[in-house]
Amino acid sequence: MTEFVCAECGRESDNSSGFDRCVCGGPLEYLSLIRRGSRISLDTGCLLIDFSDFLPPLRYDSSVSLGEGRTPLISCEGPELEGFKVLLKNETVNPTWSFKDRGTYLTLLDAIKRGFSRFGTVSTGNMAASVAAYGARAGLDTSVLVSADIPDEKIRPITVYGPRVARVKGDYSDLFYKSIGSASSWGVYFSNSDVSMRVEGSKTIAFEIFLQLGEKVPDYVIVPTSSGGNIRGIEKGFRELREARLTERTPTMIAVQASGCSPIHQAFQNGRESVERFHNPSTIAHAIENPLPPSGNSVLKMLRRNGGTTIAVDEEDIIQAQQRLALRGFFVQPASATSLAAIEKLKKLGSLNGSTVVSILTGSGLKYPSALDKHPAQVIDVSIDSLDSLFR
Ligand SMILES: [Zn+2]
Repeated sequence: MTEFVCAECGRESDNSSGFDRCVCGGPLEYLSLIRRGSRISLDTGCLLIDFSDFLPPLRYDSSVSLGEGRTPLISCEGPELEGFKVLLKNETVNPTWSFKDRGTYLTLLDAIKRGFSRFGTVSTGNMAASVAAYGARAGLDTSVLVSADIPDEKIRPITVYGPRVARVKGDYSDLFYKSIGSASSWGVYFSNSDVSMRVEGSKTIAFEIFLQLGEKVPDYVIVPTSSGGNIRGIEKGFRELREARLTERTPTMIAVQASGCSPIHQAFQNGRESVERFHNPSTIAHAIENPLPPSGNSVLKMLRRNGGTTIAVDEEDIIQAQQRLALRGFFVQPASATSLAAIEKLKKLGSLNGSTVVSILTGSGLKYPSALDKHPAQVIDVSIDSLDSLFR
C-alpha cells in the first residue's frame, strides 16, 4: 500500500523499512487521506485527537504524552513593525521548550506502533532534549548521538533525562544518514530532524494558527530554518487545509537562516535546485546551524511551488532582535530571534506591508544561556538603608 511520497522526486513508496528515505535520497512524506469534510478543532487540547482527520493513523496514548502543542499566538507591536500585524507563535512553552516536542510525540507513537523498544536521535540541541524526555516518559531505551565537540552547557540538558549519550567522532552530516539507515539492524527508531512523522508533527503548528486566527490563514509565515523539516511540515499543514476546502489560499512561506550558515538561502537566491554544503559555518544561532540540511532540496522545491522566499540575517541583527523580543517578554534562543530580524529586514526592503505575518518562536532562550554574554547585565547596587534614593 502506497502511503508515502518522496518530497523531492515524487516517487511513491510504502516505507515498510521505516528508513524514511527515497532511493533518490529525498525525504519520504506521509500521503494524508484528505477529503472534503475533514475537520480540525482545539476541543481536547490533544493534537493527535483534535487533528486526527489530517494525521497518520497512530494510536492515541496519553501515557506517553507530555502535553505538547496548543501554544499561544500572541501579537507583537513596536515602532519597527509599524505597518504589519505581527503574531508570534510561541513554541517555547512546549514541554521541553521547543517546537520539537510535537514531532517527537508522533515519532514516539510511530516507534511503538512499529514495535521498537529503542528510541533515539542525532542532535545536540532542542531535538536531543525532546527525544530524551519523551523516551524517558515512555520508558524506552533511548540513545542520543551528539558531535564530539559538544560543550558541557549543551550536554547536561540532555543527560538529565537519563538517555545513553554518545559523543561521535566523524562527519556529523553522515551520522544523520548512517543512523536512520541502520535503524532496523540496531533496533533503534531514529527520530531525526526531517523524518516523515516529525514533519507530520510540524503540520499541527499550521492547524493551530488557522484556528487561532478564526479559521483564516496569515499572509506570511516566517520560519527559522535548519534541516528544513519544520517549514516543510507547516507548509504541508496549510496546503492540506486548502485541499480539504477549509481555506482557499495558503500563506507565503519565508525561510530565514543566519548569514553565517545559510545553505538554503544561497541555493534559493542563486536559482539552484539543490543545496551545497556551507563551508566554515559560524553563527550564534546554533539551533539552525546545519551546513548540509537533509531537507534542503525539498525546501527549495516547496518554496518555488508556494511562491515563498528565503532571507538571511546578520549576527548583530539576530542579537538585537533577541534583545527586543526579551524587552517585550519573550526570551527566545538566538535562532528564534532570526524571524523578527527577518521581518525588520523585509520591511526595509519594502516587502510585506499591511500584511499579517506569523513568526515562529521555535525555542526558549534558557536553552542557550551563554548567549546572555551578548546582553550585558544592568544592575544597580544599593544598600537597604538607601532604597529611598533608588526610587526617588
Ligand atoms: Zn525521491
